[in-house]
Amino acid sequence: MDERTIEKIFDKIISLYEDKFDKKSKPRNGEGTVLASIFLHHKIFLDIKIICLATGIKCLNVNEMKRENKNGKLLHDSHAEVLCFRAFNRFLLELMKNHEYVDEDDVLIKVDVNKFEWNEAWEIGMYVSELPCGDLAVIHEQHKKTTREYQEWKDDEVKQYVDENIKTILRGKNNIKKTGVVRTKPGRFDSVATLSKSCTDKIILKQRIGLSSGLLNLLINTKLQLKYLILPNVRLHNKGNVDEILVKSLKERMEDTNIHIQFIDKYFEDNINDYTGNITHKRTSNEHGVMILKDDEYVNEPLQDGVKLGYKAKKNSLTLRKNCESLISRFSMLQLYQSFNKIHEDSYIQTKTLDSKRECLKGEVRNEMSSDGWISNIEDDFCVI
Ligand SMILES: [Zn+2]
Repeated sequence: MDERTIEKIFDKIISLYEDKFDKKSKPRNGEGTVLASIFLHHKIFLDIKIICLATGIKCLNVNEMKRENKNGKLLHDSHAEVLCFRAFNRFLLELMKNHEYVDEDDVLIKVDVNKFEWNEAWEIGMYVSELPCGDLAVIHEQHKKTTREYQEWKDDEVKQYVDENIKTILRGKNNIKKTGVVRTKPGRFDSVATLSKSCTDKIILKQRIGLSSGLLNLLINTKLQLKYLILPNVRLHNKGNVDEILVKSLKERMEDTNIHIQFIDKYFEDNINDYTGNITHKRTSNEHGVMILKDDEYVNEPLQDGVKLGYKAKKNSLTLRKNCESLISRFSMLQLYQSFNKIHEDSYIQTKTLDSKRECLKGEVRNEMSSDGWISNIEDDFCVI
């Protein structure tokens, strides 16, 4: 994609952020966040369609996920990239519901009752305002000119792992000299661990098994993959070409040479890190949310601690509040899926594992990414009826 098109896409995303994105999902003064967006680009007509925007930099830890009655209502991982993948799935499920033969933009082609194909004229792209956490951010740190020396870790130091028997999954940003391994979401060393994998790892996993979730995959015959990934140019002086190293590492782990990973010299103003050279220290924003295209309008949903803003459970309460679930929670997605797939009234896990091929592939890819084994996040099963 040429530079002009990349800039055009960036400008569109930023103007949507400025004009349409809910203020309650934006950082306040002195705070910063990460912005991610999924867009479509028409190969022939060159149209650009922005599907969703998300901000977010927080993730629930193991303790926070132990609430009762969560029933798929909590979002475990609220990093912008992950919210975006979920929002993209929601957009497509909505498009499939009430779908006649073609939708207005021909994104999906209906081939049978509740069976669709992707219109290959539309290419899928993702923009992230920050180098995604995990390997990409770690490679950047390694090359950053810094006065602080990073701690040297020996392989037998168990503190760097989430599980000492699984040495191919590192905890957060520990052992920064090591790359090519799965990492959990970063957090302070003294904080309660999260089991969510880093955004770099989730992007790799999605690229290899497909962007559609277990539910969406039951309805679509096409494996959806990113054609473009647009990241900020991090401009490191005298340290060789980091961009090339980032691209090489990511493509190798994705086992995908066709994806275009491109860097842009324009920056998102509310970004947590400043790449323009003005060293400002922003606090991490608690405000976050998603915006999804639906029937030519954008639907906003500000979020808070894994639920809709304003629906946070009381402190020390083990139960969630009624109607707290986000549009992109597992609960809401299963509800939407079942609203036009009445034949399946199974539980969430029963439904998504109907696609045994995808489950198998997921297992294989996880095995390749972490040969010592995988550490799964807590996954609750539930029914919506
Ligand atoms: Zn992240």
